[in-house]
Amino acid sequence: MADPTGFLRLQREDPPRRPVAERLRDWNELYQITPDATLVGQATRCMDCGVPFCQSDTGCPVHNVIPDWNDLVRGSHWQEALTALHATNNFPEMTGRLCPAPCESACVLGLVDRPVSIRQIEERIAERGFAEGWIEPRPPTRETGRRVAVIGSGPAGLAAAQQLRRLGHAVTVFEASDRVGGLLRYGIPEFKMEKRIVDRRLVQLEAEGVVFRTGVRVGVDLPVAELRASFDALLLAIGGGRPRDLDVPGRELAGIHFAMDFLTQQNRLLHGDAVAAEDRITAEGRRVVVLGGGDTGSDCVGTALRQGAREVMQFELLPRPSEERDPSTPWPFYPMQLRSSHAHEEGGLREWSVSTTAFSGDAGRVERLHAVRVAPEPGPDGRLRFVELGETMDIETQIVVLALGFVGFAGGPLLDGLGLRPDGRGRVVADAGHRTAVDGVFAAGDAQRGPSLIVWAIREGRDAAAAIDDWLSAR
Ligand SMILES: Cc1cc2nc3c(=O)[nH]c(=O)nc-3n(C[C@H](O)[C@H](O)[C@H](O)COP(=O)(O)OP(=O)(O)OC[C@H]3O[C@@H](n4cnc5c(N)ncnc54)[C@H](O)[C@@H]3O)c2cc1C
Ligand code: SF4
Repeated sequence: MADPTGFLRLQREDPPRRPVAERLRDWNELYQITPDATLVGQATRCMDCGVPFCQSDTGCPVHNVIPDWNDLVRGSHWQEALTALHATNNFPEMTGRLCPAPCESACVLGLVDRPVSIRQIEERIAERGFAEGWIEPRPPTRETGRRVAVIGSGPAGLAAAQQLRRLGHAVTVFEASDRVGGLLRYGIPEFKMEKRIVDRRLVQLEAEGVVFRTGVRVGVDLPVAELRASFDALLLAIGGGRPRDLDVPGRELAGIHFAMDFLTQQNRLLHGDAVAAEDRITAEGRRVVVLGGGDTGSDCVGTALRQGAREVMQFELLPRPSEERDPSTPWPFYPMQLRSSHAHEEGGLREWSVSTTAFSGDAGRVERLHAVRVAPEPGPDGRLRFVELGETMDIETQIVVLALGFVGFAGGPLLDGLGLRPDGRGRVVADAGHRTAVDGVFAAGDAQRGPSLIVWAIREGRDAAAAIDDWLSAR
């Protein structure tokens, strides 16, 4: 039984972030390590609820058995806690760093006090596991002789590959890029998760027998027919597709970049890759505007500040959310409310209700961003539209970063080669069992759901692996 007074005696303690001045001088992770003794106290705050909303679908997409491992940490049974954690999540050291923690928004303690520090406990259990050498390869004890191709090496593809391999299937992961990891590698900045965290897991997957083939764009470098002939089943874990563009006058000017180009290049530089001077995107000494108020935008703000930007602004089309939980998202749902990230603590300035109307410049380079203040209102069809309020803005800028989300796929050699048509939102169409319209071809992660979260990609990768195993077993 949980400690009946833990939540009364102990306050929540968040992991400390390194001082802003220090972290802006390097690319290392933001958070400082919390001592195990503190974590034991934090786990003691868990009430071991009869109905643990934290682990429901609303709370945790992978259904982590949170009260169980909280209780194990409370008793300092770290290795057993790790086993419980790995039962539902292949990469807890990643979700422990990067998840927005819907489990904490759904925590019952959150109704009367600050919720249990679930994410922090998860990350420390996983890190303890690596430090103690408890996380070892678990290769299969028998081979099925079946071959599965996983296309895409983001969290969905990696989770599926590990699950399928452990079931004894021969798994090859094909990745278009030169390195494995998808958005874990080239999207998410180093200061949120150092890439050694990804590499460390890949060592485990390789030792379990997962084969990686990088630099292969399936459908272009490797014909779909060849792949179909060589593998029994195929999983499309190809991510969220193309970034959303902004169709306004002046978009063609130099200095306006997609967020993924900006973030990928910085991640490549930190990997030691050479980038030609004429291709270099740097915010150093410049005034940067990031368009898009979401997490990708905030990652761009943090990156620009570390590059030495003179000033960074982040513009969002939607109005400023309330400081409090919006009534449309009551407990236990993930709350709609104002969130401030590490990047805003570091110096990014935010503006809401701004719609960019044009860019202008000189000698082919952007120099100004033109915008209007807008407000949302329901249109005649009931859908939200934005009306101009009259106030105009004219901002000096040398670098504009478009962090406007993803629009999915519009066909392409891989999907066309398989005879699959994306839906109206550019997603690969698959049923709840991750089956596409083509027998033996499955889909998972952002490719199927649309842009989402790492934890959902892991859940879908695991579910798709189980579905593929069932499908193979039935043949
Ligand atoms: C900048 C940024 C920051 C983010 N931060 C967070 C965060 O902090 N927390 C969080 O939970 N989520 C975050 N997300 C969302 C999260 O990264 C995604 O939801 C998740 O990575 C989706 O995983 P996936 O495996 O479906 O796809 P991806 O990670 O996109 O991987 C898909 C892979 O498929 C490959 N591929 C595509 N087509 C082919 C082909 N034809 N042949 C071979 N390979 C192919 C791609 O190269 C890519 O590597 C962030 C997203 C972005 C863009
Ligand atoms: S909801 Fe919160 S208090 Fe209840 S079991 Fe989950 S983590 Fe513990």
